[in-house]
This record gives sequence, C-alpha cells and structure tokens, in this order.
Amino acid sequence: MRGYRVCTLPGDGIGPEIMAEAKKVLAAVGRSEGVSFSCEDHPIGGCAIDAATASGLEPTALPASTLDAAASSDAVLLAAVGGPRWDGAGPRSPRPEQGLLEIRKALGLHVNLRPVRAYQALADASPLRPELLEGVDLLIVRELTGGLYFGRRERREGVAGAGLDGAPGAFASDCCEYSEGEIERVVRWAYEAASRRPGHSVTSVDKANVLETSRLWRSVAHRVAAEYPRVESADMLVDSCAMQLVADPARFDVIVCENTFGDILSDEASMLAGSLGMLASASIGEGTSLYEPCHGSAPELAGKGVANPLAQVLSVALMLRHSFGMDGAAERVERAVEATLDDGWRTPDIAGRATPPERVLGTSAMGDRVVERLG
Ligand code: NAD
Repeated sequence: MRGYRVCTLPGDGIGPEIMAEAKKVLAAVGRSEGVSFSCEDHPIGGCAIDAATASGLEPTALPASTLDAAASSDAVLLAAVGGPRWDGAGPRSPRPEQGLLEIRKALGLHVNLRPVRAYQALADASPLRPELLEGVDLLIVRELTGGLYFGRRERREGVAGAGLDGAPGAFASDCCEYSEGEIERVVRWAYEAASRRPGHSVTSVDKANVLETSRLWRSVAHRVAAEYPRVESADMLVDSCAMQLVADPARFDVIVCENTFGDILSDEASMLAGSLGMLASASIGEGTSLYEPCHGSAPELAGKGVANPLAQVLSVALMLRHSFGMDGAAERVERAVEATLDDGWRTPDIAGRATPPERVLGTSAMGDRVVERLG
C-alpha cells in the first residue's frame, strides 16, 4: 500500500480542534484511495514555548525536533499559532509567530498559494452583494520568505529626539528588501499557474509609484511576462488592488505580490469566500511543502468547539494535489466541502441571516458532514 508521512502541527488556540477534523478527512481519503497517511503531531508556536519553559529549556517557537520531523516528512500540515497569553512576554521572549516565519525560511518555502472561491451557497455570509461574487475564483500567489517580514529590523529605546518635542523616545525600523532572483521565482510560479487555469491572466501588484523594491518587482515581472505571451498581464498598485478586490473581484484570475501585500490582500479576499475560516493555503519551495489555513488561532473561539474546520480541510485538498499528486482525491475533498455547504450546513462564522438554527454545527459535526459527503 502506498503511504505518506505527514508532520502535523496543531499549534495553539483553535488549532488542535480544526486539525482533528482534517485528520478525519485524510483518514477517509486514505480508506477510499487505498493509501495510508501516518500523521505525527509536533509542537510549534505558543505550545512549544510553554513546553520548553516547563522543561527548563531555552524557550523556542520552533523546536529543532519539530523542524527535523517537518523536513523529513512528505508534507507538513499546520493549523495556527499565537494568542494573547504570549503577547505581553516582552521584546526578548520568542513570539509564537516566529515559529511560522522560521519554518517557512528553514524549509525554503518561498511561494504561498491562496485560492479564493466565492461559494454560491455562502453568498449571504459575505458582506459583499451576491451579484459581485458571481464567478469569483482567483489565486493569490504571495512571496513568502522576503520583504519586510524577513528584512533587517531594529528597536532602540531612549533615542534623543524620537519623542514629541524632541524628547528622548523609542525608535523602530523594518527594512523591506528583495533580490531579482527572489522576485523572479515567485512571478514565474504565478505565470505557470495562470497558464494552466481557464482565466489565463496575471495581475502583478506593487507600489511602484513609491517603493524601490516595487520598481524592481515591476521590471522583473515584465521580463517574465514576455515569456508567456498567451497569458494576459497587468500591473496594479496595491491600494487600487485593495479597492478592486471588493468593487469587481471577478476581474481577477492570478494575483502575484510580495509578502506583506499578499498577507493583507488575502485576508481581504477571504471575505469573498464568506469567512477567513474558508481559506486554505499551500507554501511551496525547495523543501517539504506546508499546508495551512489562512486564518490565525482565533483564541476567543478556542475550546468552544465552534471554529470552522473547512479551511483546514481544504488545506488537506491542497496537500493531496501538490505534494502527493492525488488530483482526483483533492477534487473529491473540495466537492465534499461544497456539497456540505449546498446541503445547508454551517458553522457560526458562515451562518447567514437565512440559516435555520438547526443547520448551525460545531467543529466536529462539520467535519463529520464532510466525511459523510466524501463517502
Ligand atoms: P484570526 O485569524 O485568528 O481571527 C480573525 C477573525 O476571524 C476572528 O474574528 C476569528 O474568530 C475569526 N476566525 C478565524 N479563524 C476562524 C475559524 N476557523 N472559524 C471561525 N472563525 C474564525 O486573527 P487574529 O484574531 O488577528 O489573531 C489571533 C492570533 O492568531 C494572534 O495571536 C495572531 O498573531 C495569530 N495568527 C496566527 C496565524 C497563523 O498561525 N498562520 C495567522 C494570523 C494570526
């Protein structure tokens, strides 16, 4: 029997609850496809910091054992990290989110794919008018290991003149840096994806009227675009893109952008799908690929059994497609999610005004409905 080893990282907040549903779905796929998936949990984020502290070790959000397990597995499935418990720990303590940045960097995951579909059944869960959502099916390709989040940074206290009226105060800076090669590989990924999609178009997003990194981005994007004459190409400033995503979202096919812009635009785009709880992502590069929902750990929902597990389940579909070449199984999972929504089942975040209370489910029951539909 074919078998794959999946390194599962449930993390913090709602992470363990939604991961449990993803495992149910993966097990069901394994049974029907005759493939064995062995999942092994490892700590990342706040729970890893706590475990190290409790054992008297140097706290870290990404233990070496977790990174080793991730690097040597066939794919990594991550839920979410972070929460207010770790927010006030001081600038020198590790933050849970460092675990995410470190694992992306260590595995060389420079491309992040975020597909966004507007499900017809969820039209009343989106804040946008239903007619704006018709035909929305876009892919955000985000650069993941460069830019502001990985540039040089500093923070100094008591700097002369940094406070009001020239008084001493704190000073901080984050540096946005990109090389030509970093830009080229992600833009090329976007064009390859667009070549295989019916939409056949790439919108390259930047802020070239202000930022030097964006001017370099645009020139590299134009050079790569020339190699794909059958793909329609356009540039768009990030502020305009933020507006167009809500004014005319169906105009987009593939959007490619740098790290920070992609982070913000994909959260905005999640509203097209009705909730952040519907958006999955794949991070791909040199090492083992990593799959995760686009949302965070939603600490206010943790332990209540009400989180939406569908983004995590859709991350399983991306894993089946991109890491295991199981396109048919990936489509079955995606169709099972859609059929579950068409049946009227909702978690509270995607329940619209017209949803009868008996159709609103908790996390585990929603996972069960998807498994039933897979069958
Ligand atoms: P969040 O994504 O956790 O939550 C934003 C909103 O979406 C909240 O209203 C939340 O209830 C809702 N939401 C998110 N996922 C949901 C789901 N599956 N089902 C139903 N509703 C859902 O973002 P936040 O509140 O800004 O951050 C919370 C914590 O998560 C912070 O510590 C943040 O640093 C961390 N975070 C982690 C990741 C990650 O692990 N990739 C990403 C973003 C934020």
